[in-house]
Amino acid sequence: MKEFRTQSVSSQFLHFSFFHFFIFHFFIFSFFNSLTFKMPILNNFEQTLLAITVPSYAFIILLEIFLSNYYGQKNMYSVKDTVTNLIMTLLNASLDGMMRFFTLLMLNKCFEFRFFNTEALKLSSPIIYWSLVVIGWEFMFYWLHRLEHSSRFFWATHSTHHSSEHYNLSVGFRSSVFEPLFRFVFFLPLSFLGIEPLDFFLIYSVTQIYGLLVHTQYVGRIPVWEWFFVTPAHHRVHHASNIPYLDKNMGMFLIVWDRIFGTFAEEMPNVKTEYGLLKKEKLNNPLDVIFYEWRNIFSDVKRRDLNLQTKLNYIFKAPGWSHDGSRKTAIQLQNELNDRVEANK
Ligand SMILES: [Zn+2]
Ligand SMILES: [Zn+2]
Repeated sequence: MKEFRTQSVSSQFLHFSFFHFFIFHFFIFSFFNSLTFKMPILNNFEQTLLAITVPSYAFIILLEIFLSNYYGQKNMYSVKDTVTNLIMTLLNASLDGMMRFFTLLMLNKCFEFRFFNTEALKLSSPIIYWSLVVIGWEFMFYWLHRLEHSSRFFWATHSTHHSSEHYNLSVGFRSSVFEPLFRFVFFLPLSFLGIEPLDFFLIYSVTQIYGLLVHTQYVGRIPVWEWFFVTPAHHRVHHASNIPYLDKNMGMFLIVWDRIFGTFAEEMPNVKTEYGLLKKEKLNNPLDVIFYEWRNIFSDVKRRDLNLQTKLNYIFKAPGWSHDGSRKTAIQLQNELNDRVEANK
């Protein structure tokens, strides 16, 4: 029996990984092409960083696929979902590449009008300078991410990242495809504060890499580190559709802004985490995934019985908002849950 099991696991793995190897080869190749396109505006360190990390992703994802097969966790990966995740990242990277020249232009313009000159600080106390870049960017990212969760217009873009019902390293690549179109607005204050645009891009890449790596079920709690930094446990909460977990843990690298602004939630050890969107939907292809929430918005807006103000509310208010209470926002659901808990005490 034991022998049979070993054989079946390894043959499944071979079948799975062979397919993935082929797909990854294609994607990694395309990824490198898109990086070459970006090269002129990357500093040397960032180029090296990407050259090392990009092929490493294929390796660690394959390792996680191997482990999930080995431990019999067949639901952790699905071929279709993984391919969708990688298509999302390619689309996002293409748009990001196109936007990056424009973004750099904007950042340089704002940098010309900077309020502080940080050159001396960068030379005399590089640790303080780079820490400030990280803290500043994480602060801006926190509010970008919070906006994406609190207004349906932005959620329509970001919901693609949350629409997988799996949780694994490849989900980190399930990008919010249209995000590069508006994300740069949140970069601009950092240039006004005197952070050099290429320094910002470097920290942006480092935090992104960290943000990809927390998409795993194989790491539990990390004592002390978890007080300040995002851990896989924190980000599992972020991807969960369990009501107490909705709109929690927005940080990419630092968890402190969530703790300060009241959006922090601890992973509960005895609660099964349900990944994906609140409303489970069969999304069959990448276009369905990308346009899912836009279609939902459109079907609300085209209703003839609603006035303009109500239609605007359907576009810009929190996801789940409804004029007649037929749907609920995360805050309404959480308040109802708290009331039920209080009533049962
Ligand atoms: Zn999110
Ligand atoms: Zn994520």
